[in-house]
Amino acid sequence: MKRRLPNILITGTPGTGKSTLSSEIGEQCSLEWINVGEVAKSGNFVEDYDENFDCHIIDEDQVVSELEDKMLEGGKIVDYHGCDFFPENWFDIVFVLTTDNTILYDRLVRRGYNGKKLENNIQCEIFQTLYDEAKGAYNPSIVFKLKSNTPEDMESNIEEICRWVEAYKSNNANG
Ligand code: ADP
Repeated sequence: MKRRLPNILITGTPGTGKSTLSSEIGEQCSLEWINVGEVAKSGNFVEDYDENFDCHIIDEDQVVSELEDKMLEGGKIVDYHGCDFFPENWFDIVFVLTTDNTILYDRLVRRGYNGKKLENNIQCEIFQTLYDEAKGAYNPSIVFKLKSNTPEDMESNIEEICRWVEAYKSNNANG
């Protein structure tokens, strides 16, 4: 089913720049930004605590049913550090942000991460966990890796995604 406005998924290890990028795209391309962590928090869709990552484990089924109607409308940009539990047909394109380890390390330390939480998140990036997860969950032809080391990377990622959104809109104007 073709949507008039696209749905985009932005995923990647925490600290790679997902929410910064998503909020910019939301503003510049008139898409609605959905921060899944916030949705889970505000709806209290929390299942358990992950000791390894020192964070809550969200109730994925509840999050999916909460968002289902919105996603069917199209025009959404969704950001989360996981991606294999969303229905595959929600997304027209998936971007996985990646950041060099030393840069990511500094960002996460600045965010107050330390010990096992810091180590596990860096490992997650080293092993390209989210890229593999995205390629496993979606058609690999719609999954793209984007470097997110510098403000210049951020700018070019915004430009590239906005260009793609405009092309999608003109191709689906009558859909
Ligand atoms: P995420 O949502 O993936 O956890 P954030 O968007 O919160 O990441 O970004 C984490 C921090 O890194 C923020 O301080 C943000 O300003 C910074 N940042 C993100 N992407 C970049 C980038 N490409 N270049 C420089 N700083 C960045």
